Amino acid sequence: MTKIRTRYAPSPTGKMHVGNLRSALYEFLIAKHAGGDFMLRIEDTDQERYVEGATEIIYRTLEKTGLVHDEGPDKDGGYGPYVQSERMKTGIYMKYAKELIDKGEAYYCFCDKERLASLRTEVVDGKEITVYDKHCLSLPKEEIEANLAAGKPFVIRQNNPKEGTTTFHDELYGDITVDNSQLDDMILIKSDGYPTYNFANVVDDHTMNITHVVRGNEYLSSSPKYVRLYDAFGWQVPVYIHLPLITDENHKKLSKRSGHASFEDLIDQGFITEAIVNYVALLGWSPEDNREIFSLDELIKEFDYHRISKSPAVFDIVKLRWMNGEY
Ligand code: GLU
Ligand code: ZN
Repeated sequence: MTKIRTRYAPSPTGKMHVGNLRSALYEFLIAKHAGGDFMLRIEDTDQERYVEGATEIIYRTLEKTGLVHDEGPDKDGGYGPYVQSERMKTGIYMKYAKELIDKGEAYYCFCDKERLASLRTEVVDGKEITVYDKHCLSLPKEEIEANLAAGKPFVIRQNNPKEGTTTFHDELYGDITVDNSQLDDMILIKSDGYPTYNFANVVDDHTMNITHVVRGNEYLSSSPKYVRLYDAFGWQVPVYIHLPLITDENHKKLSKRSGHASFEDLIDQGFITEAIVNYVALLGWSPEDNREIFSLDELIKEFDYHRISKSPAVFDIVKLRWMNGEY
């Protein structure tokens, strides 16, 4: 049997919210329950979304909660986390993008702003995206080479088929099938040379031998594109577990205004770390018996990921207070 390897892969875009902590905790527990390894990977290639200080919050929160990672580039005799902006300097993402070009699964696109602006757009997940028309897929080889030699700016796009369907399996949601006509030729490498979040995520999960991926279900809709990338490379798709939303008592999405949504806010409000970890573990997972109080070690022992539920979890501050020993 292969050793279980999981990772927590946060983008440093702000505070560490309860939902983020839950993903990290479940990744950690899945690995530790099986005697596997848990890694930390900072996904910071999206310069526009980067928030100063967010990485430090992630490190502090994981340290405080005891979610210690096992592996990473050796730093001063200890394991540093994997950091994508560092990995990029080795040329890893460009190398794999070129491999896809050689296989006909990706292509250079030299379209300028004006041309892209003239293309059809579509709203996906509330964001307007350009539906690329594959114009550059049919550029003659000589033209591509001349453009590259002249230093013309380019992006690298995934070459998705327009016919057929793609099926993606999630442990909680089952098989999800989409029409390939809905998959756009997404950008893998941006014009600044940085990989897009989606591409770096797939390259890293594969090269780090990640076996199980836990993340929020807002990623469910883009997952078929991930599967297409794995298939294009001929790589094995990891086990995906997309966690249901955590809502407030009124079944609304937890917001910053709900006030209690970040780990550090909860600490400031007087909650102890052990109670928070215990409470977060039960936001979507339950043990075989109806026990509710667990230390981290007990969670490691009991955590069977097949018992994660796909019903939305409700964040109940009263219950957290109870776990905090307040009643
Ligand atoms: N960087 C992504 C995030 O912070 C992680 C998604 C994943 O775990 O694959 O939401
Ligand atoms: Zn183009």
